[in-house]
Amino acid sequence: MTNPLFDALIAPHANRDAPLLILEDESEISGRSFVTRAQKYARVLSDLGLKPGDRMAVQVTKSGEALALYAASLAAGVVFLPLNTAYTAAEVTYFVTDSGAALLVGDPSKEAALREVASGAGALFETLGGDGKGTLSARADSAAEGFAPVARGAEDLAAILYTSGTTGRSKGAMLSQRNLLENAKVLVEAWRFTADDTLLHMLPIFHTHGLFVASNVSLLSGGRMIFLPGFRADEALKWLPKATTMMGVPTFYTRLLGEPGFTRDLTAHMRLFTSGSAPLLAETHIAFEDRTGHRILERYGMTETNMTTSNPYDGERRAGTVGPALPGIEVKITDPQTGETMAQGEPGMIEVRGPNVFKGYWNMPEKTAEELRADGFFITGDIGVLDQDGYVTIVGRQKDLIISGGYNIYPKEIELILDEQPGVVESAVVGVPHPDFGEGVVAVLVRSKDQAPDLDAVQAAVAAGLARFKQPKRYVVVDDLPRNTMGKVQKNLLRKEFEDSFRT
Ligand code: ATP
Ligand code: MG
Repeated sequence: MTNPLFDALIAPHANRDAPLLILEDESEISGRSFVTRAQKYARVLSDLGLKPGDRMAVQVTKSGEALALYAASLAAGVVFLPLNTAYTAAEVTYFVTDSGAALLVGDPSKEAALREVASGAGALFETLGGDGKGTLSARADSAAEGFAPVARGAEDLAAILYTSGTTGRSKGAMLSQRNLLENAKVLVEAWRFTADDTLLHMLPIFHTHGLFVASNVSLLSGGRMIFLPGFRADEALKWLPKATTMMGVPTFYTRLLGEPGFTRDLTAHMRLFTSGSAPLLAETHIAFEDRTGHRILERYGMTETNMTTSNPYDGERRAGTVGPALPGIEVKITDPQTGETMAQGEPGMIEVRGPNVFKGYWNMPEKTAEELRADGFFITGDIGVLDQDGYVTIVGRQKDLIISGGYNIYPKEIELILDEQPGVVESAVVGVPHPDFGEGVVAVLVRSKDQAPDLDAVQAAVAAGLARFKQPKRYVVVDDLPRNTMGKVQKNLLRKEFEDSFRT
């Protein structure tokens, strides 16, 4: 009987006494005890009546126990459905109901609210926490050892992962055993992960980046993880000397660069830093290289496709690009209206095909049919450009494209100019209703702490660099942009906030 993901990612650790996880308090969990714990959780799930294919929604603080529960779901064939810890009970209700979850697992601190959510949705409820603090953990403490993993096929679902909800309501992406295994394999190979690696893991595990990239890659390679509950720059400085690799979102890197103690010495032994989930500014890339001598490897992917492109490990890592398609994965750029392939160098819709591409959206057959073509290409919703070497540059999201006076305007082109202006830390350009042009361009500028931007100078720079129809018609200066927990700018909130800019 086989269970491809469990067999590849988890089972090999059962014979290893070396640490697999190193936790915040410096305690260590060996491969052997991790697998034993996972098997106990798997037995508990099966004793609770969960069957292969049943969904288990999990909204818990990141911990070694939480990762063991993920491993247990693979062993028991239960579909893992991790939820952002920031979601409110009302939001959790939507996910539990939409997915028809059989079980909801939550933190003991949220027990009262989540128990109600579960009972309203007809799901079981348990809490997770070490030392018997959680009900599920207490059951695992007394469960028998040695659960034999159930048989699963490559096309069986391993997880349903809801998208980040940056552009609208989150959609449940159905990910098969094969999707996740192929993704981990291609990344282990591309990024040269081995059993000698120690990954500094500070990402959340309710998102594709922290779970299906970081954790799965490390588990498959046989390496170790320094498994911290979240990102803190001072903690990172403390742990970097013990790590060989780190995976982050762009804000990890900008915050590290803000630490005076972040020195070249601290990273000299490191072999790889990767970035993804949101665009890494070229200036961060350059500042990081100046400070450490390391070129961050930027890659691109999403909940639905896992990782799709990556700058090369050995070849040229180009700042501002997300690199070429990973081996075995096809990327093409098409006309968003006609679906025809665009000429090289022309911006268009990024489409992706390969074993990494998900099986569709849970409960949304129409949306699935719209976005997943019959020929297997997934329409990502991101606009990109392909250069002659196959490197992809992300231009922005189709939904953020501004159409003003009949012209297409890509916000990034404007943001790149704005970001260079004195007093501007970063910017976001959005289109909002305009009585004459359909949409009008609003520029939201984040001011630096010690200097406000001179708006006349900013407008002059914009006028010098951009055609008139692209020039923002309104400028707003703010202290911060709204971001979700993955550091993505929520342009839908900005559009809402400034929707009356041009209304009379
Ligand atoms: P939703 O689909 O619910 O609106 P989301 O697309 O933000 O949310 P995710 O699947 O978490 O949900 O994010 C994937 C998206 O993140 C990609 O489609 C892309 O827009 C963006 N992204 C990921 N990596 C990069 C990168 N390196 N550079 C620029 N954008 C990136
Ligand atoms: Mg998306």
